[in-house]
Amino acid sequence: MKVHELFGVLDSIAPFKDSEDWDNTGLLVGDMQSEVTGVLTTLDCSMETVEEARQNDINVVVAHHPLIFPKTSSVTEAGTGAIIRSLIKNDINLIAMHTNLDHQPRGVSHMIAERLGFHDTEVLIRHEASYKKLRVNIPAEDRGQLKSDLAKAGVGRQGDYTDCFFEYPVKGQFRPGGDANPHIGARGELENVDEYIVEAIYDPAIENHVVEALVESHPYEEPAFDILSIHKPGEKGLGVLFDYEGTMDDLVSLIEEKTGLSVVNTVRGSDKPIRRVAVIGGSGMSYINGAFARGADVLLTGDVKYHEAYDAKLAGRNIIDTGHYMEHVMAEGLKILIEEQLDIRVKATQSSTNPFS
Ligand code: ZN
Ligand code: ZN
Repeated sequence: MKVHELFGVLDSIAPFKDSEDWDNTGLLVGDMQSEVTGVLTTLDCSMETVEEARQNDINVVVAHHPLIFPKTSSVTEAGTGAIIRSLIKNDINLIAMHTNLDHQPRGVSHMIAERLGFHDTEVLIRHEASYKKLRVNIPAEDRGQLKSDLAKAGVGRQGDYTDCFFEYPVKGQFRPGGDANPHIGARGELENVDEYIVEAIYDPAIENHVVEALVESHPYEEPAFDILSIHKPGEKGLGVLFDYEGTMDDLVSLIEEKTGLSVVNTVRGSDKPIRRVAVIGGSGMSYINGAFARGADVLLTGDVKYHEAYDAKLAGRNIIDTGHYMEHVMAEGLKILIEEQLDIRVKATQSSTNPFS
């Protein structure tokens, strides 16, 4: 298997187009045409990570945090440059799956919840997704064929469902002109037709393909159709939410027991029992309002600053600062997702890249 084929599978797990604009994801070092000998998953790519890959005869490292960020102006034997040089000298490829992996329903926050034993999660802060809606008039007898042709072109897909259409009967009228070659009716005569309106949504990225399929399938010379832009909460987003029964102390003990990491700090703004737990892996404090708006009783995240903690306590909110390094569970989580799709050797890193001790 070549790196580009592995890359295609990673893209199906967490599409690289879902990355934030400021991010730097994708193949950061290496060659798409090289043959994959194995995959090492890790939160960060450190010198030890490269050594671990080399010793295990693995030539693809998939890291969550991008090694090259925001920009690297020189590649020398200092800092990040030394790691990049080591990757190249050992012919090891480096792929970063960062915010694209954070924003998936089974992404990093879900992996943290799973590590704690909670597999049933929902997305915490859903992103608004853009869709197009096609609305087309069609003679009643042609609507079945049209729906089938549009479905083949990718129209009417919603989540796990395909062929999702609405239809309703309408009366249409038209008068063919002198040069027209009408499917129904005659030139110069006003024609009334029993038509249906067929409606369905599609991904804006396939618009040209959809219009081509529509014109191809429709019996009219000049099909009447509208294309509307719509926005609604999508299936993807940041963080997860799960149900829980217990106290803050129970939750802290559970986190420490299941992950082997010490909780950094807790903010106890309320002593009510915990029923809903929000998780945002990494640095989630800028999304705190969105998390508590979903009815969370506590937020698990990292990088909590003093003033953020102060304000949270004043607002009666509970926070558990698990540390940003809690995201390291993605190494095992991503290994499982890759192995679900590919029969290749995947190793979750054994080396710790936690800068705190
Ligand atoms: Zn992350
Ligand atoms: Zn992170």
